[in-house]
Amino acid sequence: MNINKLARLNVQNLTPYLSARRIGGRGDVWLNANEYPIAPQFQLTEQTLNRYPECQPAAVIKRYANYAGVTPEQVLVSRGADEAIELLMRAFCEPGQDAIIFCPPTYGMYNVSAETLAITTKVVPTDANWQLDLPAIISQLDQVKLVYVCSPNNPTGNIIKPDDLRQLLVATRGSALVVVDEAYIEFSAEASVISWLTEYPNLVILRTLSKAFALAGLRCGFTLASPEIIRILQKVIAPYPLAAPVADIAAQALTASGVATMRQQATSLNQLKQHFQQELASCSCIEQVYPGAGNYLLIKVKPTANVFKHLWDLGIIIRDQSKQLGLENCLRISIGSRQECATVIAALKTF
Ligand SMILES: *Cc1c(COP(=O)(O)O)cnc(C)c1O
Repeated sequence: MNINKLARLNVQNLTPYLSARRIGGRGDVWLNANEYPIAPQFQLTEQTLNRYPECQPAAVIKRYANYAGVTPEQVLVSRGADEAIELLMRAFCEPGQDAIIFCPPTYGMYNVSAETLAITTKVVPTDANWQLDLPAIISQLDQVKLVYVCSPNNPTGNIIKPDDLRQLLVATRGSALVVVDEAYIEFSAEASVISWLTEYPNLVILRTLSKAFALAGLRCGFTLASPEIIRILQKVIAPYPLAAPVADIAAQALTASGVATMRQQATSLNQLKQHFQQELASCSCIEQVYPGAGNYLLIKVKPTANVFKHLWDLGIIIRDQSKQLGLENCLRISIGSRQECATVIAALKTF
């Protein structure tokens, strides 16, 4: 019996997301998932694991709201930002009827979630500068409920022009939500559109503790939007999306001192990134190093150079982006520790 035939057709055809640890490789230097290189230390304070946790742990919500400068009613916490990407589709898109838009090259989970749920995707590539193709988006808004925009964009590293986002928010007002994925915003905090929430009722912002807060293993993300949107998402979220130990540690990470630590981490990472960028640019196998607003850099290698394999064989695991639209010969490297950056440069110089 062919069990595969029992699966939904869209699931049979689905290419799963190549997650950080699924890629294989026996690396010593993991620079393929934009994780923070150093593990913060936490102690569990909550020992009542006989009880179910709160659905939306109050301390986590309150502290994130405080950090983000919004009200607790504007915050939803979920199992990473990835869960929020899917919750939005489950809450707002009629399968077989409604559609989402995303603009490659960009983060892969918008497509994976839509395909899993059998929601139509309208793919509107960005322009040559990786900015939104507004006329193309606006001409395809029919049946669209969600437009996903990643800023800083993963993997290209650029920030989406604020004026374009405003035009998109106006064009979709009353018909669709614009979901701005700010997973990396702490590395370019001034670029956040958080202050626009009161102005645009169809704006949704995604955040995470996985990147600048150095807690990818915790699985904790946030959605910031109007209280109305948050209440709708609360209807479809799992009854216990966050394990009690997760909520416990997230609450600690969001204290004033936790946030101060995160800001220091982001600042020092940005300094290291600048230095790393210059060193990459001096490597002869690299054609271009693109400026990056997140904790990673996109590089374009010379067409004949199999840089990915060279690094892989040396135990340095980075992310091959060459299959993404318009990213031929491009690789993405997360900013690791100072030592890891030095290892990468040394390996590239021996190419
Ligand atoms: C890492 C990442 C996420 C996922 O964040 P989690 O909170 O770890 O699920 C979402 N969006 C983008 C653009 C990312 O790079």
